[in-house]
Amino acid sequence: MISSLHRPTLAKVDLSAISSNIEQIQAHLAQGVMTYAVVKANAYGHGAVAVSSHVQPIVDGFCVSNIDEGIELRQSGIRKPILVLGVVLPNEVSLARDYRLTLTVASLDWLAKAQGQGLDLSNLTVHIKIDSGMGRIGVRSSAQANQLIAGLRAAGAYVQGIFTHFATADEADDHKFQEQLAFFQNLLAELDDCPEIVHASNSATSLWHSDGIFNAVRLGIVIYGLNPSGQVLELPYTVQPALSLESALIHVKRLPAGNDIGYGATYTSAEDEWIGTLPIGYADGWTRDMQGFEVLVNGQRCPIVGRVSMDQITIKLNQAYPLGTKVTLIGENGDSSISATDVAEKRRTINYEVLCLLSDRIPREYE
Ligand SMILES: *Cc1c(COP(=O)(O)O)cnc(C)c1O
Repeated sequence: MISSLHRPTLAKVDLSAISSNIEQIQAHLAQGVMTYAVVKANAYGHGAVAVSSHVQPIVDGFCVSNIDEGIELRQSGIRKPILVLGVVLPNEVSLARDYRLTLTVASLDWLAKAQGQGLDLSNLTVHIKIDSGMGRIGVRSSAQANQLIAGLRAAGAYVQGIFTHFATADEADDHKFQEQLAFFQNLLAELDDCPEIVHASNSATSLWHSDGIFNAVRLGIVIYGLNPSGQVLELPYTVQPALSLESALIHVKRLPAGNDIGYGATYTSAEDEWIGTLPIGYADGWTRDMQGFEVLVNGQRCPIVGRVSMDQITIKLNQAYPLGTKVTLIGENGDSSISATDVAEKRRTINYEVLCLLSDRIPREYE
């Protein structure tokens, strides 16, 4: 989708907030723990190339979800290691090698298929994935892990790492976390020859479970300044949200009592009201369930009235404002602020999804 530069809707990304968040987390990790910045899904909507270029000097590598995200980073000059977290079909192996992407291998079937196709795995760097209870991808026993590591090495691959992923590290109840951790630790103890990089820690684990860190962390949401648990667990230290979402009034009118607004005529003015229109809608990721939520104008909370359209929303203003007046949808305005977590709660989802859904139509501006 082409980015719409000629309307006043944009996402401002504070790159120095992201680097200071990383430094803040690193200051709380044990010495020698490696940091991977997770920049999948366009760096959670913040812009993968801009974020990766900015933080490259202070991280050990990057995680992406697929080959194409890795290629985008290589083509923009990122040199540090890039780990592809998702499973890539074996026929993509030569592309991964060409772009020096580290692949995740998660099953013996994958190795068998690669070998069945006569694929050359030499000089391919891989991490193997253990399913310790997440149930998505990974081998589920030390016997399988040993067989996979040996088979990959025999085929010429460099097995650099082994990792797992926790399903509940962001929850108050840690019994499932402890089960997964014990499973992974037991499996590691039963390996014939453990790869050098061992990692299990997403943002939540890095924040709240130092026992799950091993020798590398994969930091996603927390580097963008958000709490992985939403409001459930308190952050042990503060981080700074990096993204704000702004638009501006492109139409303002005085609407007499008894007039309808938007598709379905779901709102009718109860009195004479000032109504403003903003050029943002569900095609930008400002989803239809934002009806009834608020935006900030001149430090004031103004409700979104009427349905969210594809390209526009309407808000009820407390007074007349000139065209072009700034409106904040996520971020600070005067003494008020709205966080991605607030938006997520209105939508009954998580802050991750709010950020990832911001579409390419919204330009990202870096400061
Ligand atoms: C996305 C992802 C992460 C990062 O998770 P956050 O909660 O954003 O820190 C880490 N590991 C894996 C395997 C992931 O898919």
